Amino acid sequence: MAINWTDAQIEEIVASVMKGLTGEAPKAKPQYCGAGYNGKKYIGVYEDMNDAIDAAEAGYRAIRAMSLEEREKVINIIRDLCRKEAPTMASLGVDETKMGRVDHKTAKHILVADKTPGTSDIVADVKTGDYGLTLTEMAPFGVVGSITPSTNPSETVICNSIGMIAAGNGVVFNPHPNAIATSNYAVDLINRASAMAGGPSVLVSSVVKPTLDTASIMYKDPRIRLLVCTGGPGVVKSVLSSGKKAIGAGAGNPPVIVDDTADIKKAGKDIIDGCTFDNNLPCIAEKEVFAFANIADELIDAMKANGAYLISSQDADKLAKIVLVEKTNPKTGIKSKIVNRDCVGRDAKVLLEKIGIYVGNDIRCIICETSFEHEFVQEELMMPILPIVRVKNIDEAISLAVKAEHGNRHTAHMHSKNIDNLTRFARAVETTIFVKNAPSYAGIGFGGEGHTTFTIAGPTGEGITSARSFTRKRRCVLSESFRII
Ligand code: NAD
Repeated sequence: MAINWTDAQIEEIVASVMKGLTGEAPKAKPQYCGAGYNGKKYIGVYEDMNDAIDAAEAGYRAIRAMSLEEREKVINIIRDLCRKEAPTMASLGVDETKMGRVDHKTAKHILVADKTPGTSDIVADVKTGDYGLTLTEMAPFGVVGSITPSTNPSETVICNSIGMIAAGNGVVFNPHPNAIATSNYAVDLINRASAMAGGPSVLVSSVVKPTLDTASIMYKDPRIRLLVCTGGPGVVKSVLSSGKKAIGAGAGNPPVIVDDTADIKKAGKDIIDGCTFDNNLPCIAEKEVFAFANIADELIDAMKANGAYLISSQDADKLAKIVLVEKTNPKTGIKSKIVNRDCVGRDAKVLLEKIGIYVGNDIRCIICETSFEHEFVQEELMMPILPIVRVKNIDEAISLAVKAEHGNRHTAHMHSKNIDNLTRFARAVETTIFVKNAPSYAGIGFGGEGHTTFTIAGPTGEGITSARSFTRKRRCVLSESFRII
């Protein structure tokens, strides 16, 4: 006879078994909400968005009064705390959002701590000539309103804070409602770092319960001089319509081309490593593959040797009905498919179980062969599901990959040793990031050269944002002096 235990009953049984084994009941799960974590109250997190903006304004005044050395001291302590508390934020993020992987989220926080530029990114430009000297400096905007996603919540708050503080700005956050505790943990971390460095106890701020209404207060407050939005198409559109200077870091759907000159074994491993990083949550992660038909079987074998599980096209269709759901727009009545939030960022094993396939923990990605029109190719799933489309040649590969990217101009990848093919695709796809012969995360400095960011601003053109992206240029002219040659 099957018994349907409730979750509470199972927890009680586990607790009593554990007590028998160890003499004590297991520790209670961490308790968290936007206002605090494990009974500890977050610093800089307010009930009312207006109070949060007041606090960010005061933080801005404090930053303006700091020397560059003092700002750098705060930033260095942020880096230290971020490294030390990376595993805590990673577990909290997975626990709260039910998305991603603790080991990868830990690595993402360490990347932010190590490779987000600080004050050295702020440089002045000088021109001298017959008429004297003209200096152009990168000045702060003032208070920045930052909207952050659920996919990299604390990573984005810390990365943006480092850059915005380095540039001399104050910041108020409106984090994703599904990741409030994790995002606000990061706000608290920044404020602890400030206090430890001798700065104000509240340098950056946020709200206990962010909503579209709190975002709207932020948009309208005249003290907010710059909006920075990291998220999907809806929210990017909303900040760009706000009437304020805005930086939009929007959605991607990165295609990968593999041609027949590539090192196929390496390509298979790199693609699976990149695609499965944090269970495909990063917006730069590989979302669909266009493989030359003459190497497709070998590529699939290389992927299988690296933790990929190949499903049939029937199973792919079955899975598509679960991971994508129909939504009706209440205003227009138009129906469209959207990703099922319960499947985003989940383990491949968990997704396979939904279609009755049971595999071991070594399986980290689901692969399938599909047509170009398949929803897995067209939709940004943010799950470890990778469709592979066979193509005849480079012309077809580029044409389909550019279409699959949907004009986001976000990220694209290619595995090839043919310089002409690489150049042709890079030119055609016009993405902010183009990674050649490496996993996608090389594009944000993880195993690749260059600084990191979790705010990749394609639509508004700042690209791989850093401190200088959050500045406005100011010119100072000294007439007929200071040219010493
Ligand atoms: P999302 O679009 O669901 O939400 C982002 C944030 O916007 C949240 O704080 C949400 O509450 C808020 N929001 C949504 N609609 C809004 C509106 N009309 N007005 C004000 N605020 C609004 O994002 P998500 O699901 O957490 O993140 C995934 C999406 O973000 C993907 O499309 C991904 O590609 C993209 N993303 C892009 C980058 C980048 O750097 N370009 C980084 C991370 C995520």
